[in-house]
Amino acid sequence: MQPFQFTRATSNDQAIQAAAASPTAQQNAKVRFVAGGTNLIDMMKLDVEQPTQIIDINDLKLSAIQPSSGGLLLGALSRNADVARHPIVLRDYPVLSQALLSGASPQLRNMATTGGNLLQRTRCVYFRDTSQACNKRQPGSGCSAIDGFNRNLAILGTSKDCIASNPSDQNVALTALEATIQITSPKGQRSIPIQDFYVLPGTTPNIETILQPGDLITGVLLPAPRSGSRSVYLKLRDRAAYEFALSSAAVQLATEGGHIKFARVALGGVGTKPWRSPEAEHALEGRPVNAETFRKAAAEALKGAQPHSENAFKVELAQRCLVRALTLAASTKASPSTA
Ligand SMILES: Cc1cc2nc3c(=O)[nH]c(=O)nc-3n(C[C@H](O)[C@H](O)[C@H](O)COP(=O)(O)OP(=O)(O)OC[C@H]3O[C@@H](n4cnc5c(N)ncnc54)[C@H](O)[C@@H]3O)c2cc1C
Ligand code: SF4
Repeated sequence: MQPFQFTRATSNDQAIQAAAASPTAQQNAKVRFVAGGTNLIDMMKLDVEQPTQIIDINDLKLSAIQPSSGGLLLGALSRNADVARHPIVLRDYPVLSQALLSGASPQLRNMATTGGNLLQRTRCVYFRDTSQACNKRQPGSGCSAIDGFNRNLAILGTSKDCIASNPSDQNVALTALEATIQITSPKGQRSIPIQDFYVLPGTTPNIETILQPGDLITGVLLPAPRSGSRSVYLKLRDRAAYEFALSSAAVQLATEGGHIKFARVALGGVGTKPWRSPEAEHALEGRPVNAETFRKAAAEALKGAQPHSENAFKVELAQRCLVRALTLAASTKASPSTA
C-alpha cells in the first residue's frame, strides 16, 4: 500500500473543496472518498487503487432514508443493511431489499453504503492482479480476460478492450426502479438517471461512470412506486450465499386484465454495466401474462449477447433467470400502497 494523506470531512462543502483543492484532482482522480471502505481498502491492499489523498466522508449528514418528491431518498451513506430492512423499501421497492440481501454478508452489508456500492469495481481476476495486463487498471496494457478466465464476465456491452461485468446487485435493482443519482461538486448540484450514470467500456474501460474527479454522490432518489407494480430480484450464482451473480434479473411489472401494463427489466452479472433492457420491456408491454410472452422477452434481452470462450452458458442462464423473475413478479401481490 502506498502512503496517502488522510482528511476527515465534516460537511459536503468541505469534502468537495478538499477534493477540488488536491493537486491531483484533475489527473484522473487520485483523490478518493471513503465510505464503508469495503471495496476501496481491498483495492488499496492489492495496489489496484493508489490514492494520494483519502477523504473520509462518514461524518457527513448523508445517512438518512426519507420520503422525498413522492419517492424515497437514500442518503449516500445509508448502509446497505438499513436500506434492505427499511419498512418503505420492503413495502414499495422489494426488488431493492431482495437485491441487497442477496449480496455479500451481513457484516459487509452493515458497513457498505449506497454511494460506495454504486462505485464498486469489477471482480475480474486480472483487474485485481497487478502482474496481469488489464486495460481497465492500466490503459493500453491489453485485456488478459478475452483469451483467459472469463467465465464470470460480461456478454452484453463488451468491447475488444474489456469484457468485465459490473458486480453489483443493488445497481441492477436501482436500474429497474429508474433511480436518479444526486451529485454535488464545486460547480453545483446535478441529478443523473442511473441509466446515464454508467458508461460502456469502449476503448476507455478505465472510465466507468460520468463522474468527474471530486464529484460527491449525496444520494439516490427512488421515484414514486408505479401504480399496481410488483417487483422481484432473482440472483443465480455458484453457491447460495457470499457469492457474486453469474446472472441476475430485477423486474418491475404491473398487469391489468391479464395483460402487462408496465414493465421494467434490468439484468446483472451479464453486462459491463447494470443492464437495462428496453427490448425486453417492449416485448412485454401490452402482451398477455404468460410463459410465451416471458420467453420472447428474455430472447429479446439477450439478442445482442457476445459470449467469450468460457461464458456462452450465460446466454441461456440469463434468459431462464429473467423468465423465472417475471413469473415470480406476475404471481406476487401488488403492495397495498401501489395497488
Ligand atoms: C467478500 C465480499 C463479497 C461481496 N459480495 C457482494 C455481492 O454479492 N453483491 C454485491 O453487490 N456486492 C458485493 N460486495 C461488494 C460490496 O457491496 C461493496 O464493497 C460495497 O457496496 C462498497 O460500499 P462501501 O461504502 O464500502 O464503499 P467504499 O469502499 O467506501 O468506496 C467504494 C468506491 O466508492 C467511492 N465512494 C464511496 N462513497 C462515495 C460518495 N458518496 N461519493 C463519491 N464516491 C464515493 C470511493 O471513493 C470508492 O472509489 C462484496 C464485497 C466483499 C468484500
Ligand atoms: S476484462 Fe476488463 S477488467 Fe478484466 S482484464 Fe480485461 S480489461 Fe481488465
